[in-house]
Amino acid sequence: MKRTITLQFILIVIITVISTLALAIMAFYRSFTDEIRDDLKSYAGVVMSAGVFASDKIISADNMRVTMTDSAGVVIYDTDSATGRDFSGRPEIGEAMDKGEGFSVSHIKHDNKNMFYYTRKIEDGNILRIGKRTDSRLNMLYNSIPQIVFIVLFMAAASSVLAYFLTKTLIKPLEGMAEDINAGKEVNVYKELEPFAEMIKQQHEDILKNANMRQEFTANVSHELKTPLTSISGYAELIENGMATEADGVRFAGEIHKSSKRLLTLIDDIIRLSELDVMDRNVDIEDVDIYDIAYNCVSMLQLSAERHNVTIEMSGKRNTVHANKEMMEELVYNLCDNAIRYNKAGGTVNVSVDSVVDENGQNRVILDVKDTGIGISKEHQERIFERFYRVDKSRSKSTGGTGLGLAIVKHIVAQHHISMELESEKGRGTEIKVIF
Ligand code: ADP
Repeated sequence: MKRTITLQFILIVIITVISTLALAIMAFYRSFTDEIRDDLKSYAGVVMSAGVFASDKIISADNMRVTMTDSAGVVIYDTDSATGRDFSGRPEIGEAMDKGEGFSVSHIKHDNKNMFYYTRKIEDGNILRIGKRTDSRLNMLYNSIPQIVFIVLFMAAASSVLAYFLTKTLIKPLEGMAEDINAGKEVNVYKELEPFAEMIKQQHEDILKNANMRQEFTANVSHELKTPLTSISGYAELIENGMATEADGVRFAGEIHKSSKRLLTLIDDIIRLSELDVMDRNVDIEDVDIYDIAYNCVSMLQLSAERHNVTIEMSGKRNTVHANKEMMEELVYNLCDNAIRYNKAGGTVNVSVDSVVDENGQNRVILDVKDTGIGISKEHQERIFERFYRVDKSRSKSTGGTGLGLAIVKHIVAQHHISMELESEKGRGTEIKVIF
């Protein structure tokens, strides 16, 4: 970037210098022409007022050509050529015949010079012509090439030094920005770059947060897997060493079975979460009847509810939502399963699907899972959607919980751009609403 800015800067300076020089030469040549014309005019005045031309003794000066023609343009006298030649075709002679005065510039190819002519008609009808030879435009440019080259080189060198420092000051805030963002400091850059800096800073923080979350998750996963594996390994070792009686053997096998089942559920949930992470965008969305899904889920959980001495009921009416069917089944299942597992003996779970018109006049479908269970105190309410967060770890474990159910629910809700509301009171119950 620095290199590009410096090179562009130098290029701009060189182009500016060259075009300024070209313009200056053109302007100079123009005023030079005007000056010569004035010179020739006053010289003609001198010649005429001296009256010398009448006596054929025309005064001449260096570099000057003086010509006298008769009124028809035939040369009577010329410092540079013979008399008798017809000059009536020359533009400056014609102009003097017509207007009394004329001016012309002609290029002499063989020595690359210009010839300036001024003509004037005098009293007796004769025409006086004064000529002056000068360098041509090209020649003048050619003669000033050393100066031009010097100026261009000087300017290029000066602009290189200037460009170097200018680029350095220009880039400095950007370099500072990169350093500050890495150091997590408040960035101080050009006003125009503030949104950009803010965005990068935000992304940087997100990346850090994500990395931290992943690290924490990996640590948690290892820890969660370790507990059942340690138990499996311990019981197996006892059996292997012949330290278990026959009755123990059956009990130990039961423990091993329970821990393996726990391992499998944990692994299932972990795989599910990482699947949800990966398929962030590519999910099949279709019209699904959320009442149907909830109804099937309630039927499926009847047995589990009976085992927990909980009544589960379904109410509401058919409602279609735009969603992924499998994910909706998972969402409803996790919410109902929790409502049963964190309930009290003799408690109830009410699942309903309804539609309401919101303040913007839009029809909204609401899935509501309400229980009369143990409830969640305020300080835990925000955290229960985090991975592996459990209010009461032993209760969660003893009912087959992994601490990932609500994290999966949260993920599904975010993916469907729908919202979720939690209302809970410790000891009284919990209500979770999913609003489509
Ligand atoms: P788990 O597998 O432990 O149930 P979840 O992610 O489903 O994990 O829930 C996280 C925690 O939130 C649970 O351990 C529990 O403490 C609390 N929780 C979830 N649902 C309810 C509920 N309906 N009533 C009371 N507590 C709940």
